Amino acid sequence: MTTTSFPASVHASRLDRASALAAEAGLDGIVVGPGPDLQYLVGVEGDTIERLTALVLGPGIAPTVVVPRMELAKVRSTAVGDLGLAISDWVDGDDPHGLVAGILTGASRVGVSDALPALHVIPLADLLGVSLELATPVLREGRMIKDADEIAELRRAGRAIDAVHRRVPEWLRAGRTEREVAADIAASIVDEGHRTVEFVIVGSGPNGADPHHEVSDRVIVDGDVVVVDIGGAVPSGYNSDSTRTYVVGTPDSVAAERIAVLVRAQQAAVDAVRPGVTAEQVDAAARGVLAEAGLAEAFLHRTGHGIGVSVHEEPYIAPGNDLVLREGMAFSIEPGIYFAKEWGARIEDIVVVTADGCERLNETPHALTAV
Ligand code: ZN
Ligand code: ZN
Ligand code: ZN
Repeated sequence: MTTTSFPASVHASRLDRASALAAEAGLDGIVVGPGPDLQYLVGVEGDTIERLTALVLGPGIAPTVVVPRMELAKVRSTAVGDLGLAISDWVDGDDPHGLVAGILTGASRVGVSDALPALHVIPLADLLGVSLELATPVLREGRMIKDADEIAELRRAGRAIDAVHRRVPEWLRAGRTEREVAADIAASIVDEGHRTVEFVIVGSGPNGADPHHEVSDRVIVDGDVVVVDIGGAVPSGYNSDSTRTYVVGTPDSVAAERIAVLVRAQQAAVDAVRPGVTAEQVDAAARGVLAEAGLAEAFLHRTGHGIGVSVHEEPYIAPGNDLVLREGMAFSIEPGIYFAKEWGARIEDIVVVTADGCERLNETPHALTAV
């Protein structure tokens, strides 16, 4: 079960803010199930699915954690215990939905976190006699704007993953499989200060053309372009995520030229980030550079995603997202180009929006790195 380690006072203000935002949204209560929302609010992710763990909060409701007794000690060791939050524990045979409904007696508009399983949503709606709604807009508001402590953790995560990228040339070479290289990288992700390895993508040659490729037993050969996209969570629970593109030996000249364009596209998007600009404008900055070079069709995904206690969260830097960027938002800038059956490339940094631009949290060289 993932826990975070901020002072209880930080969690107290996050809880207050969530209740205030719920009130503003006209909700009488919110039920937060296991997942990143719970981790953000009280410092523990919760790991039960069929046994209900939930935080109930809202205007005029003392935040209450409903938890299976077998998880109680673990949950109490987090901000839940430090803040002395109300706890309603239950054992197999009890009806936890009844406990939640009891806390929400009289509520007519109730929101649920997007990770609350349907297994609990449906019985709860039946008991409350109301139709539940998504509390996502309320819950994302807090998580989307990072405070100074959260930014410090994202910086720590950025430095840790940069240290891993600096060591990739030690492991990436012709004759090794993607899986062997990935195993060395995974060990280093932990060595360099992460608590968990969240993902290791080593996409060599044609495998790099699939943005979803993770690893395989393909043997890397001389001349391969290799996408290495890696990340983990540092002990506070905040995540790193950085991609660099490497070449084993000498790249062919077309690939080298196209990757140089990609590096410029990534820089153009980073340069576009500042408060007041929309997410889609940042996406368009990267897309525009690629389009000018005739590479628009090769860019198969959005430019980026928010990051925090989860690897993918709001804001999404994508076409059609007119969300206005604000100071404290943290997200990836990761355009890529993909040529089916040939090769692919992607460059990814995490940035945090500052008062007049952005701070880049990854500092290893962007240009194609020969190993
Ligand atoms: Zn029930
Ligand atoms: Zn990534
Ligand atoms: Zn990413």
